[in-house]
Amino acid sequence: GVGWTPTNAMISCFDGIAKGPFGSLGDLVLIPDPAAALELDLGDRVERLMLSDIHELDGAPWGMCTRLMLKAAIARLEQVAGLSVTATFEHEFQLKGGTAAPGEAFGYQAFAAHRSLGEAVMGALSAAGMETDSFLREFGPDQFEVTVGPRDALRAADEAVFLREIVRLVAKAHGEEATFSPIQSPTGVGNGVHVHMSLRDRTGTPVTWDSNGPGELSAVASAFVAGILRDMPALVALTAPSDISYLRLTPHRWSAAYNNLGFHDREAAVRICPVTGKSPDVIARQYNFEYRAADAAASPHLVLAALIHAGCHGIEDGLTAPRPTGEDLSLLSAPELAARGVERLPKTLVAALDRFVSSRRVCGWFPIGFADVYRAHKLGELAELDGKDTAARCAAYAAVY
Ligand code: GLU
Ligand code: MG
Repeated sequence: GVGWTPTNAMISCFDGIAKGPFGSLGDLVLIPDPAAALELDLGDRVERLMLSDIHELDGAPWGMCTRLMLKAAIARLEQVAGLSVTATFEHEFQLKGGTAAPGEAFGYQAFAAHRSLGEAVMGALSAAGMETDSFLREFGPDQFEVTVGPRDALRAADEAVFLREIVRLVAKAHGEEATFSPIQSPTGVGNGVHVHMSLRDRTGTPVTWDSNGPGELSAVASAFVAGILRDMPALVALTAPSDISYLRLTPHRWSAAYNNLGFHDREAAVRICPVTGKSPDVIARQYNFEYRAADAAASPHLVLAALIHAGCHGIEDGLTAPRPTGEDLSLLSAPELAARGVERLPKTLVAALDRFVSSRRVCGWFPIGFADVYRAHKLGELAELDGKDTAARCAAYAAVY
């Protein structure tokens, strides 16, 4: 392995070190996982990287390692329900300093103008062992979406890390700069990371779909989804963890502003996605739901760990998912929302962090001390933005994500 410092947990995306429990003392070791290796041929050079787990010097897992947190969540779901999660991360990004003109939303000309970038990205993803699904010109200015096929949960999170690096490197090789930042302008469109999930039993049989269940979810998938919805106001601290993430999590942006379930509804926080299959076995394989309140400021490993723990807890508590909403929730009063079992998600990162640290259930899913360390890190990040207006905050995040 490679020596490492605990203070790493406090280094913000802006390179400041937040006040926290770690100083100059202590040592850790990064233990690389050869199963999580990436080799990227950029023509003029080959980039190689490998993901690691972070351990104490004696080999014990380090409590703040997000990849080990995901492994723990995967193990819990296996233990609680004999299930595994199949997942993929659907990413949106924008090219900086773009030249978008009216008429380019989802447009062919804009797609064609970036054909070589798209082909290079898809080629690199495929060479990295990912199952390429789609590359499209999204709705927003200079916005694209790239999706890869589903994997087991750990591999899906690893691939999300690789995909972001691949897009950034390939864009640079094309003279462009890509940003996955949650939002570039408060009046503009957000860049979401939608996390698609489905469940399989120990034999690998898909168990998400039941044609008779509400929303055609099986009982176990319904409980899993209900667990996510119940704790979503706390979970967003982990899945939408930047100051500007909360500009994106507002109504009418096709992101998520309430902890609601939707059926084919792009304003839903958890959306039951459409399938194209006709026969029951194909439908069962395709059936999946999508968590839309995540963005690329979040660690994919931490996001999936949080969602799986929430789902596990829903299964343990025997929850049932609420009926999918199908109306404009922004028009409803708080009591009307409450009658539907729905609430407005926190409107700021600070409010989300408060929900997180005050939820014993959610904090209990993570190693002791993690919630406080996480909050301190994020408060340090926010302090680095002091004095900046919204446009400057968006620019600061666009520079790092
Ligand atoms: N850009 C939207 C978001 O911020 C998602 C649009 C869509 O693909 O449905 O999540
Ligand atoms: Mg999209």
